[in-house]
Amino acid sequence: MKSAATDTLESRIGSFQAVLKGRIVLPEDSDYDKERKVYNGMIDKRPRMIVKCADASDVVASVNFGRENNLLIAVRGGGHNGGGLGICDNGLVIDLSEIKFVQVNTADNTVKVGGGNLWREVDQATHPFGLAIPGGIISSTGVGGLTLGGGIGHLARKYGLTIDNLLEAEMVLADGSSVTASEKQNSDLFWAIRGGGGNFGIVTSFKFQAHPVSTVFGGPTLWPIERTEEIMKWYHDFINNAPDELNGFIATLVIPGAPFPEHLHNKHFCGIVWCAVGDMDKAKKAFEPVLAMDPVFHHVGEMPYPAVQTLFDGMLPHGLQWYWRADFFNELGPEVRKQHLKFGTSIPTPLSQMHLYPISGAASRVGPEDTAWAYRDAKYAGVIVGVDPDPANADKITTWCKEYHEALHPYSSGGAYTNFMMEEGQERVQASYRHNYARLARIKRQYDPENLFRVNQNIKPGV
Ligand SMILES: Cc1cc2nc3c(=O)[nH]c(=O)nc-3n(C[C@H](O)[C@H](O)[C@H](O)COP(=O)(O)OP(=O)(O)OC[C@H]3O[C@@H](n4cnc5c(N)ncnc54)[C@H](O)[C@@H]3O)c2cc1C
Repeated sequence: MKSAATDTLESRIGSFQAVLKGRIVLPEDSDYDKERKVYNGMIDKRPRMIVKCADASDVVASVNFGRENNLLIAVRGGGHNGGGLGICDNGLVIDLSEIKFVQVNTADNTVKVGGGNLWREVDQATHPFGLAIPGGIISSTGVGGLTLGGGIGHLARKYGLTIDNLLEAEMVLADGSSVTASEKQNSDLFWAIRGGGGNFGIVTSFKFQAHPVSTVFGGPTLWPIERTEEIMKWYHDFINNAPDELNGFIATLVIPGAPFPEHLHNKHFCGIVWCAVGDMDKAKKAFEPVLAMDPVFHHVGEMPYPAVQTLFDGMLPHGLQWYWRADFFNELGPEVRKQHLKFGTSIPTPLSQMHLYPISGAASRVGPEDTAWAYRDAKYAGVIVGVDPDPANADKITTWCKEYHEALHPYSSGGAYTNFMMEEGQERVQASYRHNYARLARIKRQYDPENLFRVNQNIKPGV
């Protein structure tokens, strides 16, 4: 027998559906299991309902419904978050995946993007105009979560983080009101959403500054894992003195299979994935010192920007098991390099990897208090991911990832890039926002005093 409270909620869901343009997916629906899936196959949450919002007015109605019915609210953009923060148990998921549009304005090279777009769709729409917005390094991630957490990618050294290119956001707040956040309007809110994640409201539309990026010089270079210490030492000097046009993140990895040549398969490597922009002759020349390091594989050349963004998409389909750990680093000293060699050699499955993304060039010239993103002085955002298709290997990838992280954490800057974290507790969130946490907590109190938006790297409303 159903309780009166459940009956009340059920009848309200009927009236709620009537005011929506989009659809509510309920546990009894045949596509519920498909709709509750997120990118990380380790996440298995069962929401009370998923609202497939058609537009901003559906988002307003969903926020009001969730708040008035005391439902836990999760907001899903691209659904890629490592910790599964785009979904929740028993609550209401506000799904933005149908709020998609990319409008390119060639008069001033600005681009309006829907709150539910994926980066692939943005790159495909801007590329024909010879433009790109700094995103990440893979095309299947959501614009929403990646942007609000900061956004580190191939163009970071030349054009900064994604948030450094954000001009404006249209948002639905916890009280159901709609506002614009920009340098001129609600500037505190605009400061907070540039790094502070989904804590302050739901972004239904982003406006970005795009840049003239069309053909890039990119691809991977590999060295045997035994050379990790030497290559990391060289890389640190090289990348921190390289022109802004050259970006390259360093990794310990295993080559899992195609499209790489067969003789590399299942071997462990220290590698760098490059992306150089600007004059292609200069870009080519910039790789001379790389070749002088005698790599075993160097597959770098001219390609359209969307191609470098999709290089690894095929290797990383939806539904794999992912376990994440992260930290910022200033140095790659001898002990750190030793640990990278040790854990790089013991990578447990072909898709598990460690990446260090440079926070230098333009990304480092924004002040640590100019946006909520506090670690502008860190040299690298590091991330370790244990990845495998088989749930039976979940323990194996988790243990390796945790042990790798524990070995490196004492040498880190303290906090981590929040988009590379799982649910790791309040102390970690505070450490990651550092000196900006108190201001974020004050802005949270102003815009979301009841902490309605708390399925995220949560900033508690300040007292
Ligand atoms: C394969 C892979 C590659 C990645 N590569 C990079 C990379 O190169 N650079 C990088 O910086 N990060 C990268 N990431 C991390 C990525 O930035 C985070 O996973 C991010 O959370 C993904 O955003 P999403 O919208 O897809 O996620 P979701 O799971 O949908 O959301 C994540 C968080 O953002 C909030 N959110 C999402 N959209 C909105 C919105 N419109 N309004 C308000 N809140 C919103 C959600 O509520 C949730 O708290 C990668 C992740 C994966 C899995």
